[in-house]
Parts: sequence; structure tokens; C-alpha cells
Amino acid sequence: MRAVRLVQLRKPLEKADISIPRIGSSDVLIRVAAAGICHSDAHYRAGISKIDRLPLTLGHEVAGRVEEVGSDVTHLFVGDRVCVHYLVHCGNCEFCVRGLEQFCRSGEMIGKHRDGGYAEFIKVPGANAFPLPDEIKFEVGAIMMCSSATALHALNKARFKAGESIAIFGFGGLGFSALQLARALDCGDVYIVEINPAKLASAASMEAIAIDARSRDPAEQIKEATGGKGVDVALELIGSAKTMRQAALCLAPLGRAALVGLTAESMSVHPYTEVINKEAEMIGVSDHLATEIPALIEFVRSEKLQFPPETLRVVDLDAVQINTALNALEDSVDHVRTVIVPLK
Ligand SMILES: [Zn+2]
Ligand SMILES: [Zn+2]
Repeated sequence: MRAVRLVQLRKPLEKADISIPRIGSSDVLIRVAAAGICHSDAHYRAGISKIDRLPLTLGHEVAGRVEEVGSDVTHLFVGDRVCVHYLVHCGNCEFCVRGLEQFCRSGEMIGKHRDGGYAEFIKVPGANAFPLPDEIKFEVGAIMMCSSATALHALNKARFKAGESIAIFGFGGLGFSALQLARALDCGDVYIVEINPAKLASAASMEAIAIDARSRDPAEQIKEATGGKGVDVALELIGSAKTMRQAALCLAPLGRAALVGLTAESMSVHPYTEVINKEAEMIGVSDHLATEIPALIEFVRSEKLQFPPETLRVVDLDAVQINTALNALEDSVDHVRTVIVPLK
């Protein structure tokens, strides 16, 4: 089969002709219909996130049709449309039995620790394949399995409830989904904090309150806009110590800040005035859970979470086109996502 693989770090991905994976009794083989090209893939190629095994087929945002079903898989049949949860887990360790597979002792990420979806076929455990309703295009079924799933997990971790106000720091792919999901959960006012003029305009066009962090401290602006109270929930999706601190400072009493963005920097808060006396919470968010995927699929099926056609760009399973898309990811300012759709 055709695949596009990372062969050497800091080098373009290469086309390869490799054998179709053989499935075990608990696996399914999926004919890839769409594979999202994600920011993390650019980081793997650049050697920023560690990859242990090369060559590797990248691609953790995958949807397609079931081609072959292992004998122990009972919930799927040949021809079924599916989308793939990218965390492969053992199912038996102390975390897996509690439904916390992102901490699995022997967990693997598809497209990072094992071959992903930049290929004609992918092998995944049956437990990682979720039926994809006919109403959801394969392209959307692929891209929703990363940033949208994590945005939903962040809202769940923050125990976000109907009527609550929310500040979203960063309006990239995660923020775009987080805004729509917060609305689907009947949120109160939504503040979008950005420094990018195009993203501020896009937030305003989606009827969120755009907070321009270039002009003045966004936490102060949010406090003023809420009559000094602050917001119930803040999502930090950027990954900087500065915005993490701002996410904590803009909270109302009993507010929760969910930290999603990655950074190696340290942050500081004043324990008494900024956390203790308002009983604020700062919550770490890592990936998402298989148990959250059915709800996510339903938000998309019911069009509460949408990816309009103009936000999707399609390329072929072609090394040159994929490398070009990865190059362009670093400077993207819109919400356009590139999806690989292998031509027959
Ligand atoms: Zn991704
Ligand atoms: Zn496990």
C-alpha cells in the first residue's frame, strides 16, 4: 500500500510502498478515507516531540471504512464508517480499568508510537474505532478526533455547566471547537483572548467577546467587562506561563482554569489573593477519553459543532503535498484544516 512516512527527523516525509498491516483478533483494518494533518505532526517531523521508532507513518486524526474485522471484535462490520480514537491502551492496568486510558502504563499514540493514517490502510484495536454516522463527512470525522475531542475534555475537566461564563485563551483549532462546544452546553458570555487581528475578527464574527491582549492585560479587561467578578471557567489553549497566569487571574470566585497548552516555563500565582480566597482551581488537561467520543460525535452529527466547507482543504496522499501542508501549519492564522484524502 501507499504510505507517507517520517524516515529521518528534520527531513521531509517520504513516500513509501509498504505491506498492508496484518490484524490480530482484537484489531480492525481500516481503509483510510481521511487523515488530518495536525500541528503535532509538524513537531514530530521537526524533532521537537520525541519519536522513538523510525520510519513511522504519521497521522493520528483518522476516519475511514472497516476493511477487515478481527474475530474478537463484535461491534463493527466490514464496510462500517468509523473514526479513530488515537490513544491505544491496554484496557487492564490500574488507569484503564477506571476509564483513564491517557495514563495507561503501556499506552501508545497512533501516528507517534505506532503507524498512523498517512497511508491507504491502518490497523487499530477495535476498541479505538467508533461508528461514524452517515451525516458526518470523513474529513470532519478525522479532524474532530484531536483538537475538538481535547476541547471537550477540557470543558469536562473544568466541570463546565450551562449558564457559566468562559474565557478562551487562544483561538486556533482548539479554541474554534471550544467556543462551539461551550455554546452547545448553553454557556453564558464567551470571551476570546487573542493577539492575532484575524483571529480576533473571527471571534467577533462568531459573536464572542473579543479581548485584544495586545492593548492591555486581558485578565483586567475580563474583570472590567464582568463588573469585577471574573469568569467561571478559563481555558488556556496557548501554552505560555503568562497566559496561564492570566487564566487564573480572570477567574470569579469558585472559578476553574483548565490548562491545555504545553509549556516548559514555570508560572507563579499569589496563593492567598489569587487562589485561596476565591477557592479557584487550576486543572491540568491531557488528551481526552474514549468515553467522551460518543458525545463528541453527537455534537457534530447534530451540527452544534461545525466545520464549514471553507475551513477544510483536501490534499492527496502525496509526500510533496503533505510536506507543503506541514510547512504552512506554523504560520496559519485561519481555521483552515488540511486533510489527506487518498485518491483511488
Ligand atoms: Zn492532532
Ligand atoms: Zn492500561
